[in-house]
Amino acid sequence: MKIAIPKERRHGEARVAASPDTVKKLLGLPADKVEVAVETGAGDGASIPDDQFKNAGATIAKDYASCVKDADVVFKVRRPIIKGEQGNTDELAPLKKGALLIGNLDPTQSPEAVRAYADAGVEAFAMEFMPRISRAQAMDTLSSQANLAGYRAVIDASAQFKRGFPMMMTAAGTVPPAKVLVMGAGVAGLQAIATARRLGGVVSATDVRPAAKEQVESLGASFVAVEDEEFKEAEAAGGYAKEMSDAYKKKQAELIADTIKKMDVVITTALIPGREAPKLVTADMVKSMKPGSIIVDLAVEQGGNCALSEFDQVVEKNGVTIVGYANWPSRLAVSASSLYARNLFNFLQLMVDKESKQLKVNMDDQLVSGTRLTQDGEVIHERVKDSVP
Ligand code: NAD
Repeated sequence: MKIAIPKERRHGEARVAASPDTVKKLLGLPADKVEVAVETGAGDGASIPDDQFKNAGATIAKDYASCVKDADVVFKVRRPIIKGEQGNTDELAPLKKGALLIGNLDPTQSPEAVRAYADAGVEAFAMEFMPRISRAQAMDTLSSQANLAGYRAVIDASAQFKRGFPMMMTAAGTVPPAKVLVMGAGVAGLQAIATARRLGGVVSATDVRPAAKEQVESLGASFVAVEDEEFKEAEAAGGYAKEMSDAYKKKQAELIADTIKKMDVVITTALIPGREAPKLVTADMVKSMKPGSIIVDLAVEQGGNCALSEFDQVVEKNGVTIVGYANWPSRLAVSASSLYARNLFNFLQLMVDKESKQLKVNMDDQLVSGTRLTQDGEVIHERVKDSVP
């Protein structure tokens, strides 16, 4: 069984889908003749030189084509580049028919790519679709990466902020603590709250899911939300947020408008799966903030939570700095790669049959069927079937 880990070629992507630790684990899988091929330079962005992969037992492939040639499994961080997307680069064509392609394949945003996997006869698994159940936690790439993003958002906010986070009482006077609002208290938001608290900020947070209130308060932050009947019922299947009514959004926006003008730092992380991110911070709200305040918009890749944030840019509007970097996990490429690699290893383990020592894709396992996009040349996943061309 050959497992390939090619170098990521998308702009700004520093992560890699394996670590020396997971190479060793992959080689220990109970399968026949396991070989792990890592493309030369694949670990550069995550500070893992070829030698470390080699010492872990991987073979170093000199280029993409030889890395993925005849591979039964291909691990990717981001979806393969398809011809026409980035010059002549074509990461899909060299894959073997029947190969398992496993990674964050961004299926809802790129239905044409899902069609291309099916046409190429590649068996694609989108890690983003991993069911949010306890057994899947060790394979949950969204969580492992969002947690790091939430941490880094606060660190980057503090780097931009021209004041300190903690209250400091000195002989020369008292420096007040930073007031931080975190919008969206999912995995990223909760880590942002914890990080801002560790730095000494006075933290409040908001979310549309009632379950978030207790989690926010348990981290020592205060909860800001319109807690009406709609709020109490607002939790869709899988623990995700659901789209709120216009009336609720209006009431919540008024409360947020009033809260935001008192804030020094606002970190936004609000997402609704498969949809554009809700716009929570309007241009007027930005205008109401004090000069020197910071907004970090973690949702910028899904359209942004702040009306004035710009994709992959740091901009200043009315004296407020708005940080809209794309790909936050890649800013912590070492930690992000290590956790992501473990997620993929844990997932692949499910597909190795100990008896036959071969790959066996068991569609009775909901973690497998829940993530599988294509099978035998067809797009099979319910969430994308109707949107692929
Ligand atoms: P997410 O990234 O989809 O969204 C981030 C947060 O934004 C969510 O908390 C969401 O409720 C919130 N949000 C959406 N619209 C909003 C609005 N208008 N205003 C304010 N906040 C808004 O969420 P996530 O981090 O992926 O987590 C989603 C849920 O899944 C959580 O309940 C989390 O605890 C749960 N979860 C479960 C597992 C597991 O059991 N395996 C793993 C990870 C997460």
